[in-house]
Amino acid sequence: MTLENIQIVTQLEAILGANNVLSENSEMVPFISEPRKRFHETAQAVVMPRSIADLQTLVRWANNHKIPLIPQGGNTGMVGGQVPLLGQEIIVNMGRLNKVRQVDADGGHMIVEAGLILEHAHGVALQNNMLFPLTIASKGSAQIGGVLSTNAGGTQVLAYGNARALCLGVEAVLPDGSLYQGLNGLKKNNTGYDLSNLLVGAEGTLGFITAASLKLFPKPSHYETAWINVASPQIGLRLLSLMQEMAGNYLTAFELMPRFGIDMQLKHTMIARDPSESLSPWYVMAEMSLTKGRENIMQRCLEEAFGNKLIEDAIIASTLGHRELMWATREQMSASQSREGASIKHDVSVPISKVPELIERGCAVAEKLIPGIRPCPFGHMGDGNIHFNFSQPQGADPVAFMASAQPLHDAIYEIIADMGGSISAEHGIGQLKVDLLAQTKDPVALTMMGKIKHALDPNNICNPGKILAISKQD
Ligand SMILES: Cc1cc2nc3c(=O)[nH]c(=O)nc-3n(C[C@H](O)[C@H](O)[C@H](O)COP(=O)(O)OP(=O)(O)OC[C@H]3O[C@@H](n4cnc5c(N)ncnc54)[C@H](O)[C@@H]3O)c2cc1C
Repeated sequence: MTLENIQIVTQLEAILGANNVLSENSEMVPFISEPRKRFHETAQAVVMPRSIADLQTLVRWANNHKIPLIPQGGNTGMVGGQVPLLGQEIIVNMGRLNKVRQVDADGGHMIVEAGLILEHAHGVALQNNMLFPLTIASKGSAQIGGVLSTNAGGTQVLAYGNARALCLGVEAVLPDGSLYQGLNGLKKNNTGYDLSNLLVGAEGTLGFITAASLKLFPKPSHYETAWINVASPQIGLRLLSLMQEMAGNYLTAFELMPRFGIDMQLKHTMIARDPSESLSPWYVMAEMSLTKGRENIMQRCLEEAFGNKLIEDAIIASTLGHRELMWATREQMSASQSREGASIKHDVSVPISKVPELIERGCAVAEKLIPGIRPCPFGHMGDGNIHFNFSQPQGADPVAFMASAQPLHDAIYEIIADMGGSISAEHGIGQLKVDLLAQTKDPVALTMMGKIKHALDPNNICNPGKILAISKQD
């Protein structure tokens, strides 16, 4: 039976209460428009369940009527997973399911609901003298459910791993409305398929994560943060090896940035001053997160690098303000590009040892295709994950520049394939990269993914068309 929109809204109000249902276009705008402004489909309604029982009732109803649902967290996703594709979906915003259920500092974990904002999760950990290390620039809006569903990365992956590595288990409402109970505080649990891990990184296509058990770590007592001039990405790679050898897992961030990104931030007064003291084509921002009794490890690493003639200039943040300036400069790299007109972006990864080659080959091919293009490759060098972005040539027409993007995408993804890399290092597939995934993923893996999706969601109601294209039988 097909329901008209008006009936749908009435039934949603009956299930969830009228206060938890939005259906006017003007009310839905904040939930439909996403950070990159690339996707513009509307939704039938936006709903905000107040309890897991209500969510289960909603999902059962949608499954009966074959009405597509989109799980949505903070709506900060970069690939359009959280916004409509078909125009017939109901967006289910998880923000009201945001309780902290349990903190077990001694056991090194906490159980929180999916709608808890990442920054609030940091606060809960800190109040208990612990650290939840995953951090991304969107931490003030992104929710735990979104972070897990995208298997988010960020700047601490080097030492602590990505979202998947930081999750001990999840609770989730599956597409038939049943509740999967995978929450636990166990470091070791060898009892068959890892179903929580299937839901992590599934981008809402296999159900709704409602709560998660997250790992906690001892809170560092202090940080040593440095801004280091490096002559090339190759030197950056050698510095990474040196620091890992000397500092091990105390090295928690190792971010590569080109001078271009700093110049842009200065030009557009996004930072009050240059975080570096001298010019260099590239910089690394490295950070050690240390516990009591461990001092001056950064200093010793830099002395060794100076001694080996690997680097010629570096500065260690001596105040909190200077550390904050360094982090702000790193976090604004992407935003600064939008002040310089249009930009073409790739979120890619290669084996760490191949990052310099990726940058060299990618910049060369880009210049050949679009002379005058301004490369801005930056990011998580220690994870092999570079945000390979390009700003339009100075004075170029932004529309014409974006129209010429496809050959550049093709060339970058060809290099990535050649180097054994990934077309999506941390942002996921969403609706943006569905075709690209179909072209590049191992066909056997794609078939397995399709079978899993069909087994759990035969009516294809959970985020249809995201990650996997909608097939004819759906
Ligand atoms: C300024 C900025 C910086 C960023 N930096 C990084 C970065 O460094 N690293 C990184 O990895 N990402 C980064 N991102 C991308 C984004 O913030 C992350 O992907 C984040 O994890 C998304 O969380 P969210 O709550 O906003 O999810 P949403 O955007 O709302 O949703 C993302 C996906 O998760 C699904 N989903 C959301 N909640 C649930 C749930 N409870 N159950 C099931 N599925 C769900 C949605 O359907 C969608 O497919 C950045 C984004 C911005 C705007």
